[in-house]
Amino acid sequence: MFEKVLIANRGEIALRVLRACKELGIQTVAVHSTADAEAMHVRLADESVCIGPPQVRDSYLNIPALLSACEITGADAVHPGYGFLSENARFAEILEEHKLVFIGPTAEHIRLMGDKITAKQTVADLGIPTVPGSEGEVPTIEDARKIAQEIGYPILIKAASGGGGRGMRVAENAEVLGEAFSAARSEAAANFGDDTVYLEKYLDTPRHIEFQILGDGKGNAIHLGERDCSLQRRHQKIWEEAPSPALNSETRERMGKIVADGMANLGYRGVGTIEFLYENGEFYFIEMNTRIQVEHPVTEMITRIDLINEQIKVASGRALTLKQEDIKFTGHAIECRINAEHPETFRPSPGKIEYFHQPGGLGVRVDSSVYQGYEIPPYYDSLIGKLIVHGQTRNECLMRLRRALSELVINGVDTTVPLFERLISNQDILDGQYDIHWLETFLADNSAE
Ligand code: ADP
Repeated sequence: MFEKVLIANRGEIALRVLRACKELGIQTVAVHSTADAEAMHVRLADESVCIGPPQVRDSYLNIPALLSACEITGADAVHPGYGFLSENARFAEILEEHKLVFIGPTAEHIRLMGDKITAKQTVADLGIPTVPGSEGEVPTIEDARKIAQEIGYPILIKAASGGGGRGMRVAENAEVLGEAFSAARSEAAANFGDDTVYLEKYLDTPRHIEFQILGDGKGNAIHLGERDCSLQRRHQKIWEEAPSPALNSETRERMGKIVADGMANLGYRGVGTIEFLYENGEFYFIEMNTRIQVEHPVTEMITRIDLINEQIKVASGRALTLKQEDIKFTGHAIECRINAEHPETFRPSPGKIEYFHQPGGLGVRVDSSVYQGYEIPPYYDSLIGKLIVHGQTRNECLMRLRRALSELVINGVDTTVPLFERLISNQDILDGQYDIHWLETFLADNSAE
C-alpha cells in the first residue's frame, strides 16, 4: 500500500480523497493555488504545498509544479480526483516515468476512451451496444449527407475529442445538415484543437443511465449498478439517483454483466463509468469516463462500498477482493449538486459564506469543502458541495431530501438549493418520470411565468 498520497485537486473531491486515505492509514499531501490557501482540504491534510497562482493552468494543471510537490514531500502516488488532470494520459505517463503511481487506469486506457470514436469502436467490439451512427470519422459534408440519409434524421454531429457537452450539433433535416456540420467542426477545432467529427442518430427522449464499474487490471471486474443522471442543464448533471426509476433488477443485472465482462476483457484497472442513453428499453453507449465521478456517492450509499478506497487499493496493485455476488443494493439514494450560482439565471456567485448550517440525521450525507466564513474564489468550478440522501425506498428518500433541504442554510452567496426545493414538489420528479430534456423544459416554462 502507498505511504503518502498527493491529492492533485481541490474542493469537495480533495476532501473526499483525503478521507479515504486517512481511513487506509495513508499520509496525505494537499496542493493548492494561492487563492486556496484557506481551503478545507489544505487544513485537513497532513502536509500542503502551494503550487502556483489562481489560474488553473499555472496551478492545478501545472505538471512540473505537481512533480516538485511529490519530490519535496516524498509522496509515492497521486490521486487526480475528477476534472483537471484526471483524464490526461500524458500526466499518467509522466508520473510513471518518475516512479510515481497515478491512481487511475493505465495511460493506454485513458487514451483509448478519451477519443470518442476509438472508445465507441472499442466498446462495440466488447459487446456493449452503441448509438447507430457513422463508422468512425466523417471527413466531408458529402460523406455526412450520405451517412445521415442511411441513419435517418435527426442526426447529431459530435466532436471526437469533445467534452462538457461542447462540439455537438443537432441537424433536424438535410437542409440544415451543412450548417450544423461546419458549426460542429469549428467549435471542435476551437475548443479541443481537433476538428474530427462523427455522426450519430439523435435520440429524442432518452434517459442518461450510467454503470459504475471497478476493475483490478488483472482480468477481474465488477459493476456496482447504475445511476440515473437525466436531470441536466446544458448537459451538466445537477441531480443523480440510484437505482434508476426506469430500470428493473433484471435489466440492471443483464446490462451490468455486459459492461463488467467487457471491462474484465479489456483488463481495465480502477473505477470507471460507462455512460448510456436509454430509450424504449434499449441502451446506447455514449462515452466512458476513466475516473471517479462527482455523483459516485449515490452508488456508495446503496452499496455501502467506499469507491475511493477500492480505487486506491487496485491502483496499489492489489487484486479485487469484492465479487459480483458481494454487491447488494439497498434502498435508494439521491444527490443534489449545490453550486454557488443563482438558482434561475445560473450566474456564478463567488464570495463569502456568512452563515452555514448543514443538515444531519439518519441517511443524510454532505460532501462539501466549505465552512462558515469561507470565501469562494471566482476562479474555479461553482460546485461547493453535494447533499446526498438515502432511504429504504425512493419515497422515503424523497421525503428525507425535502427535510434535509429545509435544514440546509447557506447565506452570503446564491446557491442552487431553491431549485431543488422546487423540484422536490414537482409531480414528474416524484413519479420519476423525466428524460434528459425535462429540466431544460421545466426551467423554460417556469421562467416565462
Ligand atoms: P460530453 O463528453 O460532452 O459530456 P457525451 O457524449 O457524454 O458528451 O454527451 C453529453 C450529453 O449529450 C448526453 O448526456 C446527452 O444529453 C446528449 N447526447 C449525446 N449523444 C446523444 C445522442 N446520440 N442523442 C441525443 N442526445 C445525445
